[in-house]
This record gives sequence, C-alpha cells and structure tokens, in this order.
Amino acid sequence: MQLLKQLILENKTMIYMKNPFANIKIISRICGFVLIMMLSLAVTSQSDYELLRDAMLGETPIADDLKELCEDIGGRITGSKANKASVNWAFSKLNATGLKTWKDGFEMPVLWLPQTTKSRLFGPGAKTPILVSKYGTERGIYSSKIVGVGTGTEEEFESKSEVIKDRFVIVETELCLDINGLFAEYAHAAKVEELAYKHGAKGIIFMSSRPKGLLYRFITSRGTSAIIPQFIMAREDARFIMDEIARGQHMEITITVNSQKGGSFQSQNVIAEIPGTKYPDEVIVIGAHLDSWAMGQGANDNGCNVSMMIDIARQIKALNIQPDRTIRFALWNGEEQGYFGSWDYTKENLETLDNHIMALSVDIGSGGITGFFTNGRQELMGIVDKVLEPVSEYGPFTQLNIPIVGTDNFDFMLQGVPNLVANHKPFNYGLNYHASTDTYDKVDIESLKQNAAIVAVLTLGFANLDPEEAAVLKRQTREEVQDVFDKSNLEFTMRMFNVWEPWINGERGIK
Ligand SMILES: [Zn+2]
Repeated sequence: MQLLKQLILENKTMIYMKNPFANIKIISRICGFVLIMMLSLAVTSQSDYELLRDAMLGETPIADDLKELCEDIGGRITGSKANKASVNWAFSKLNATGLKTWKDGFEMPVLWLPQTTKSRLFGPGAKTPILVSKYGTERGIYSSKIVGVGTGTEEEFESKSEVIKDRFVIVETELCLDINGLFAEYAHAAKVEELAYKHGAKGIIFMSSRPKGLLYRFITSRGTSAIIPQFIMAREDARFIMDEIARGQHMEITITVNSQKGGSFQSQNVIAEIPGTKYPDEVIVIGAHLDSWAMGQGANDNGCNVSMMIDIARQIKALNIQPDRTIRFALWNGEEQGYFGSWDYTKENLETLDNHIMALSVDIGSGGITGFFTNGRQELMGIVDKVLEPVSEYGPFTQLNIPIVGTDNFDFMLQGVPNLVANHKPFNYGLNYHASTDTYDKVDIESLKQNAAIVAVLTLGFANLDPEEAAVLKRQTREEVQDVFDKSNLEFTMRMFNVWEPWINGERGIK
C-alpha cells in the first residue's frame, strides 16, 4: 500500500505493482473514479515480465506435453526409433507455437544401442545377478573369475595387481543420493577405470550406487574408445559377491551382452526462434536435451525441461511479446554421449558466436530452482540477480560462479560465450538419475511450472538488457577460458567426461 500511495503521489505508472486487485477497496475510498482509472491503467500496463510470469504459472499444457513425451514416446537414446519420434514430436510442438522452427542435423560419431545384458554366477549360492552394460560395451559373452578390489583405490589395485590381469574386478561404491553424489560417482568411476586399464583388467563391475536392485547407465571416461567392458550390478548382488570373495570363495561370472554398435549416423536438434526487434543479430539460446538413456522415460532428465522450453516459447508467442534480442529455444540431441548436438550448434554458428549474449542449459530435474551456475563468469552474477527481480518471491536465488561440465552449456563455455546452468533442489533427481525409475510420476509439476516462470523471466531479461549492461557479456578468448579451467582445477572433471583432450587438441572450443 505504501508503494501505491507513493506511486499516485509521484504520478507514475504502476508497472511493478504486484497485486493491484488487493488495493481496490482502499483506492476507491480515497478518491473513486480517477484512481480506479489509474488502477485499470496499472492492470493493463503490467510489464511483459509479469505477463509472462503469470502465463507460465497459469494453465498451460506443460504437464500434458511431458506426459506425452514420457509415456507415448518413452526412453529415447540417440539413434533409436524413439529418439526419432521425439524429434518429430518436438518439431510439431514448437512449430505449433507459430514460431519459426527447424530441425538441425548433425553427425553422431558412433551408434550404440543397448539391448539385453544377462549374467550367471558360478560359486556358492545359485545367483543370476542383475546388471546393465555401460555405454559402448560391445556385444559378446564375457567369462572371468571376479577379483574384489574394495572401493578401488590405488593401494587396493596395487596389492592385487598379480591376480587382476585378464580378470573382472568388482568395485564397491558409495550410496548416491543427490547431484553431489553423482559427481562423486563419475569421479570415482573415472579413477577406477584408469587403474583397471593400468593393471590389465578384463572388465569392471561397479556396484550400483542405489539400493533395491536399481540399475542405471552412463558414459565411461573414455567414451566410445573404451575397450574394457563395464557393468553396473544391483547393489545387493554386488554386495553378495564381494562378501563371498572376502570369505575366500572363488567366484566366476559369465556375462552375455546384446548391444548394437555401428558407425556414425545423423541426428537432429530441434530449434525455434523469435527474432529480436531492436538487435535481431544478438542471440540468447535457452535449451534442454531431448535425448535420454533407454532406461526409464527420461522424465526428470530431461523431459521436464524440454516441456518447459516448449511452454516458454508458446507463452511468449501467445502474449505477442517482442524481445529486443533474438531468442532461440533449443532442444538438443546426443547430450548423454557427450553433448554432441550443442557442440554442433557452436560449430555451425561459429561466425555469429560473438553475438551470442547468453546460453542457458536447464538439466537438473524438476526440483525448485535455487539459482544459476555462472560458469566462471563473475560479470553474469549481478545481471542474473537483476533480471530475476520479477520472480523474487520464488527465491532467494543464489548464483554460484562454478564452471559446470556435464551438460549443454559446455561447448558454449569452451567457446567463451557467457553461459548459465540452472541449479535446483535435489528432489527426485539423483536417486532416479538415468535409471528405470526416472518416470513421469517422479516429476514435481508444481515446481516445474514455477521453474518455467523463473526461466522465462530470466530469458526475457537477458533479451531486453540495455546495450550498456550487455556490453560486459563479451566472448572470452581461449586464454580467458583456460584461466577459468585452471582456477577451478577443471582438468580432472573434464577428463572424467572424456572432454579434456578435445579441448587441448583444439577439436572443441575457441581457437
Ligand atoms: Zn541430462
């Protein structure tokens, strides 16, 4: 109310008034008609940010879209029929918004589609442990004695070096409960892989980091050049084997892998665009990846945020909002194998990357957004704080200036383009990550809608930044990018995602 009085006195329009209807009674008591006229002016002059925020929070098909993607199409590993169906689905959804929409083809280096993985254990206790093969594991029948290497430390590998050669090792893992647990698991796996290669192991069986027989899949630190077959085994089955080995029992396993491996193939991103009115050559890219692993429905990773991108595009168009800069909505493909779709975008748009003001990736599920990772770009922090003001009631938002590796911001970061990754409350993300349980029912729809409002307002805020404010968002040089990596010791993280070498040898990133 104080704000209202002040605005009336100063005869300003009430653009930032949050809830004009709550004030109707007071206003009409003060001086009736004139103020009601002013009130109606306030309602009609709601800012684009508020209109967009309210539209995102109102009734939209965001949940219905997600349900279609999860339940009608399902898991959609790049190269599969389901993935192609998801590309067509995404195209028709974005195209239906009325925005210019296109499919952007790119080459995936290797086809790998998992089919079945079965095992038989020889030793005390009849068991057929359940397990899955990790990315790239070739079709075949693998038989070996199993050697327990505890948690897979260097000392454990060294002490058993004589018996590891040409044998399978089994490795204990920590329970993974959230995103920190995920990063710890990737790091642990990468270290174990190096040791397994060094000691000539025939294969690696990782204990599942989730209980109750839950299985999941992710890439190895050598990507498609991995030679050693790798598996994730149900936690309880792996525990049984490790206990038996510790008791001195001889344990052997035969694992039969059915997978399809092939050469390079074509995949597609789906992109829609709303041209900027003042600075059409300057671009904001917001994206989420369309692909998933074949297990589960790819709901929290990352169908929910695909659905969010489509909904933001739809509402901006429906409200006829005219951003100053061009906004591109990108539904990336081939993310899980190494962000191939977004990497291709940076190659195809190399000539105009200097004009890319900001690239955002939303890929950590449907828990409430807590802020944004600014990926080593200090100058982004204040701007993000400012553009989030119209959604401040859903905060507080904390920006973290940490460089994130593991999603589609990566090649923008390598190219020196200012980039953001949304940070979220853990919700169901870590527990169901890449697993058969990543299904529609695990998505927090209410929070997804709120996140959509936050991302929509942020996007429009960047699109409408004053030129003086946007001037600090310059593209970094290779040296500046390297400096960010050095200061945050990013080499190991990049190695564990198999993306350090391509940066060092100039295959990826700014020259
Ligand atoms: Zn993801």
